Amino acid sequence: MSNKKRIFQLIFITIVGCGLVHSGFNTQVEAASSISPSLSIGLPHEGALKNGEVLPSTGDGYRLMQTARDRRARFGVVELVQLIKQSTFRVYLNHKGAKAAVGDLSKRTGGEFEHHASHQNGRDVDFAFYILNVKGKSISSNEMIPFDKNGFSIEPPMKYRFDVERNWALVQELAESHKVAVQWIFVAGHLENLLLEHAANAGVSAQTIARAEQMMKQPSKNSHFDHFHIRIYCPANDKPHCKDFGPRWAWYR
Ligand SMILES: [Zn+2]
Repeated sequence: MSNKKRIFQLIFITIVGCGLVHSGFNTQVEAASSISPSLSIGLPHEGALKNGEVLPSTGDGYRLMQTARDRRARFGVVELVQLIKQSTFRVYLNHKGAKAAVGDLSKRTGGEFEHHASHQNGRDVDFAFYILNVKGKSISSNEMIPFDKNGFSIEPPMKYRFDVERNWALVQELAESHKVAVQWIFVAGHLENLLLEHAANAGVSAQTIARAEQMMKQPSKNSHFDHFHIRIYCPANDKPHCKDFGPRWAWYR
C-alpha cells in the first residue's frame, strides 16, 4: 500500500470512528427520549432543556400566571409538568375548587434566565400562594403576595391571608409524591412554621410531616415569603445528562 493510500485509509478510519462515537452518544440520548421525550441537562443553575413539555395556560387545578406567559417560561421535563397538573388537581378536588397560580418554569430550551439563578433545566417551578380575602374566602390571585409570620399580607398590608389549609394541601401532595421525586420546597421559615403547625393540628401522619419538614427550606434570608419554589430530582431516564445537586432524601433511595 502506498503511503498516500495509507494516509487516506487512516483519515477515513478517523472520520468514521468519530462518527460512530458521535452516533453512539445520540443513540443513548434517543433511547432516553423514547421513554421520556424530555431531557433535563446539567444542573438547575447551569443547564439546558431538550424537548421540554409545555404547561398549558390553564388546567383543572391551576392557571399559569401572566408573567410566566409573557416570559415564555412554561417548559419543563414531562415529570414536572405532570406533577404540577396532578398535585394542583388534587388540591382543587379536595378543597372546594381552589386554583393554584403557577409562576415560571424554564424557557423552551432552558439555559440562563434573567429573573432566576436556577430554573435552567426544566426541574424548577414557582407557585404563588393560595390566598384568602379578609372574610376568609378563597380567592384567585395573579400576583405573588408576601406574608408575615401571622399569615397576613405585608403588601398590600392586612388585605389578604395566607391560606394555610390549601397551601399545606399542596405541600402534602408534594411530600407524598411517589411517581415524581421532589427535592425542595423553598419557602420562608415563618410560613413553614404555620404550615407544620396546621398539619400537626389536622392530624397528618408523622411521616408526611417529617418529609415535608425536610423538603421545606428557606434558601436565603428574606426570600420566598411570597411564593413556593419547587424543585424535582433528575428523572431516572435523564441521567447521566441530568445532574442533581444537594441531598437526596432517604425515602427516594
Ligand atoms: Zn423559583
